[in-house]
Amino acid sequence: MPESITKNLFKLSIKLPDLAIESLNAYLLTLNDKNILIDTGSPSYGSISSLVEELENLGMKISDINEIIITHFHIDHIGLAYLLSKLAKVKIIIGNVEYNFIKRFRYRYDEMIKILKLNGASQQLLDIAFDFTSGFRANIYSRVGELNNVETVNDSQQLYNLKFLFTPGHTIGHICIYDEENKLLLSGDTLLADITPNVSLYEENCNPLNEYLKSLKRISSLEVKKSLPAHGRIIENTEERIRELIKHHEERLNEMLEMMGNRELAAYEIASKIKWKLKYNGWDELDPSQKYLAMGETLAHLKYLEDINAVRKRISDGMIKYIKQKENIKISL
Ligand SMILES: [Zn+2]
Repeated sequence: MPESITKNLFKLSIKLPDLAIESLNAYLLTLNDKNILIDTGSPSYGSISSLVEELENLGMKISDINEIIITHFHIDHIGLAYLLSKLAKVKIIIGNVEYNFIKRFRYRYDEMIKILKLNGASQQLLDIAFDFTSGFRANIYSRVGELNNVETVNDSQQLYNLKFLFTPGHTIGHICIYDEENKLLLSGDTLLADITPNVSLYEENCNPLNEYLKSLKRISSLEVKKSLPAHGRIIENTEERIRELIKHHEERLNEMLEMMGNRELAAYEIASKIKWKLKYNGWDELDPSQKYLAMGETLAHLKYLEDINAVRKRISDGMIKYIKQKENIKISL
């Protein structure tokens, strides 16, 4: 059943049958003359059927949707945008940075493989990286890139009673949506109650963890009564959740530095020695998709450490190896 947040904002539970994260919170905003869906679900029977059911519970159908806002390009958010735009003639609204990224995604994929290889990734990991991204590309990205009913928005742009806030970190152009009147933040995957949002390197010279921390600080400057995330429980205390997330990254950075000691290590070796918040007994137990995410997180943290001169890297045996700059470094964020 949809959950009523305000008299015209509803949280819809959308199943994600093929993904480890089992469901998406889509949101439906009903205005006088239009209905706006925020995020969609994956391109799957489970997602489309649960969307139809949730709308039915509100006395609505797919063709009643007029606009779709996409927080970011991941499959569980953008996945039904193409289909819905064909079924309901909706307008797709997406941040301009994210849209430009979708447009150039093919090139970035090759870059990513190059980065993974240089950082010592196993062949098994490279194989799954290809599966991941080729699926995305074939089904989703190029298709939304093909649509001519896409409208891009800029940072801080206002639309109806909503303000678009660019909060990069989870993706290069992730947006949160702020309802200033009701002090509600639709936080997408930037703030989640139960899990730590994934922050991974998206291209060679980016520093996504730095971007993410800046995004968290930007959000903490807003007055927010509730954050409405794209997965899991509603966040009642946004300030506290932001503090927890910052602390988590601070601990992870210090864990890495401690573990490195005086050794020169490739990112893949570092990833395999981190204590990830997963139920497992050792690196070999993780499936390749988990290793892929862990590797992305590790690279994002190493890039952060490199940019503050805590570690440096050098090429050795065709691989990038990291070493600490000084003996005792303690990061405080
Ligand atoms: Zn998501």
